[in-house]
Amino acid sequence: MATEVTFPEFQATALDAIPGIASAARGAFRIHKTKSLEWRRLQLRKLYWALDDYQPQLLAALMKDLHKSDFESLLTEIDWVKKDCLFMLEHLEKFAKDEKLGSPHVPTTYSFMKFRVRKEPLGAVLIIGPYNFPVQLLLAPLVGAIGAGCTAVLKPSELTPACAMVLKEMIEKTLDKSAIAVVNGAIPETNALMNEKWDKIFFTGSAAVGTIIAKKAAETLTPVVLELGGKNPAFITKNANLALAAKRLLWGKTVNSGQVCLSQNYVLINKELVPTFITFLNQAYKEMFPNGAQASPDLGRIVNERHFHRLKKMLDNTRGKIVMGGGVNEADKFIEPTAVLVDSIDDPMMQEESFGPIFSIYPVNSLDEALNVANTVHRTPLSLFSFGSKAENQRVLNEMTSGGATLNDAYFHASVNTVPFGGVGDSGWGAYRGKASFDCFTHFRTISETPTWSEKLIAVRYMPFDMGKLKI
Ligand code: NAD
Repeated sequence: MATEVTFPEFQATALDAIPGIASAARGAFRIHKTKSLEWRRLQLRKLYWALDDYQPQLLAALMKDLHKSDFESLLTEIDWVKKDCLFMLEHLEKFAKDEKLGSPHVPTTYSFMKFRVRKEPLGAVLIIGPYNFPVQLLLAPLVGAIGAGCTAVLKPSELTPACAMVLKEMIEKTLDKSAIAVVNGAIPETNALMNEKWDKIFFTGSAAVGTIIAKKAAETLTPVVLELGGKNPAFITKNANLALAAKRLLWGKTVNSGQVCLSQNYVLINKELVPTFITFLNQAYKEMFPNGAQASPDLGRIVNERHFHRLKKMLDNTRGKIVMGGGVNEADKFIEPTAVLVDSIDDPMMQEESFGPIFSIYPVNSLDEALNVANTVHRTPLSLFSFGSKAENQRVLNEMTSGGATLNDAYFHASVNTVPFGGVGDSGWGAYRGKASFDCFTHFRTISETPTWSEKLIAVRYMPFDMGKLKI
């Protein structure tokens, strides 16, 4: 159970302090202090233990901001990042080691030379987080940045203010203050941060804000990782285990009350299967919520009134039929896990990213039609899920792209903290997690070394040229 904790009122960082914070991060990188493996290991260990020490405050903050149960908060936020720290600590030396290059990278003609790839930290990085997993999505990139040897400034979401304040205190009291800082605030503070020069910007959030970030970063040719959202499809064919598909897809919409970038926006299902699928969905609902979803101590709430009304509006405006759930309660910011049967891709339920516990069911005649609809709604979603035969699942993978994909389940490809995760096209650029987190903040610098004794072997390059000696 979350202990009784009082939170300081949310306080944005003073705008005029932001240039100094950014400059300190750049300065700390320039004196090379973050490059040693000792420094990186120490910070990772400190972060691990900070998450332990601050667990009660973090659990209480997650409960306050998102009504997240302790079970979910530990599994998907606190323990998630602790596991990230352990993974990075275990593999850091191997990841950071120079890679010697030989055949097939180096042709035999140059085998007398030495080639290697040095792993160098990119520099001072900015990490901007969203509200839905305020701990995980801010700190998991930080683990990568520390592992790679970067300095970092973090900007948590202002929509989860209790988490933002606890994170700021935890990081500032625990980690190396001169190299890692937290700026709290909303648009003005993010804009002030974006006016600074960074060596990389790691942004998780909406495509709309991602576009603003990418445009601004382009002015200074700053590389950006964008972890964005999308309209994710689920495919269900006649060969699927329908009961399991229903249960697993409902699970996908109950974690964090569906406020998960990866969860399905809509289900494309063979027409004849629709009534049985709806029955199974409602059965699964009853198993998970025997006393109704609102009474469940496990289900989170919508983050704020604005997002509550956004979701309610989608339900109010749909021309479809609610076939599971449908309940809403403004005072409690509660939206019931809800499925809506729709018959047009123009329906608001098909057009907007749901980012909540609601999704649509769209009946189709064939897998051809399903693929056609999905590629029309969103050509490059963050994820997709396919419930069918092996051959059908393979066909879905072949004929539609996505950031990642899960077969016969809801978003499990992103439930393991060590496998690479990222979007494609307009659902994101770049990937992280596991080794990818280290790589994400690393410059792969190729170094060659020419032996002084080899002059004769490579003399052909000097003018005057001799065509007779040119061998390709
Ligand atoms: P958001 O884009 O509104 O906010 C993200 C961050 O950007 C916040 O820190 C916020 O303060 C800042 N921000 C907001 N407006 C800004 C502006 N105009 N200029 C500069 N900065 C601004 O996203 P959100 O509502 O916190 O999160 C929901 C979105 O994030 C959904 O679209 C979801 O799919 C996506 N998301 C993606 C992933 C992923 O890993 N791909 C994970 C979680 C959420």
